[in-house]
Amino acid sequence: MFGMIEGTGFEVIDPSFNECLIGHARVERLWTGARWSEGPVWFAAGRYLLWSDIPNNRMLRFDETDGSVSRFRQPSNNSNGNTVDRESRLVTCEHLTRRVTRTEHDGSITVIADSFDGKRLNSPNDVVVKSDGSIWFTDPSYGILMDYEGDRAESEIGACHVYRVDPTGEISIVADDYVKPNGLAFSPDESELYIADTGATHTSGGPAHIRKHKVADDNSLSGGDVFADCTAGLFDGFRCDTGGRIWTSAADGVHCLAPDGMLIGKVLIPELVGNVCFGGPKLNRLFICGTTSLYSVFLNVNGVSPVGGV
Ligand code: MG
Repeated sequence: MFGMIEGTGFEVIDPSFNECLIGHARVERLWTGARWSEGPVWFAAGRYLLWSDIPNNRMLRFDETDGSVSRFRQPSNNSNGNTVDRESRLVTCEHLTRRVTRTEHDGSITVIADSFDGKRLNSPNDVVVKSDGSIWFTDPSYGILMDYEGDRAESEIGACHVYRVDPTGEISIVADDYVKPNGLAFSPDESELYIADTGATHTSGGPAHIRKHKVADDNSLSGGDVFADCTAGLFDGFRCDTGGRIWTSAADGVHCLAPDGMLIGKVLIPELVGNVCFGGPKLNRLFICGTTSLYSVFLNVNGVSPVGGV
């Protein structure tokens, strides 16, 4: 399990990437057998990771204490992105049911959002929770374009937006100029919000980049210039470390972007990567969802804790 896996490794593009690496640490393949892995989320208290296998309509659980993988939820309504809120509750995007849900401490499920202005959402893709309890998610149409990752259907809204649900339950559009909004993450101090646009999947010459928005005290966004263009496929899901670097999925592995957007290095993975998250007790282990497999690598950086603190 810990031998060098073919096709894995590190590519240092800028010397500053060396500081992020542990000399002898290697990429590990923890499990394989999924069709399309997405939405990794770390549960610190339980020392386990959940992730989605979207076409197989299930969520899986990797137990850090013994390395075992089990089925967490099936059917999962073709779940995609996951995160935890400030109370460590699971928040999930579901394609099939076209909604965002929260799994409560007692296991019951609460619908956070399933429509806007009386129209059904497309297929929520990825989600993040801000420290004020607001829930921000993207709503591209991947889950309704075909039957593979949900049910094929027409978009009722007719566009792909980014939404925020306030703790009051009120939902609003925060960005309406994306082709296919996808992964999203706040900077460590939440003053900025990064959002990926994977519009190139269905629009020739379309966007394959991450944009950066300023977040005002009232949670409105401004700016939104392109932060980084993807040099290998698409940026799908990503996470920030405490140094403000972005660790993002790409076609050839995980790209590490400096706070100014410069690509400084890569963790090479032999499969298309869909999403990543930091885990382990010190949040210094990057979990990587690579198509059929779950990978991880220990790094000399720490992820931003989604539940606060570091
Ligand atoms: Mg995604």
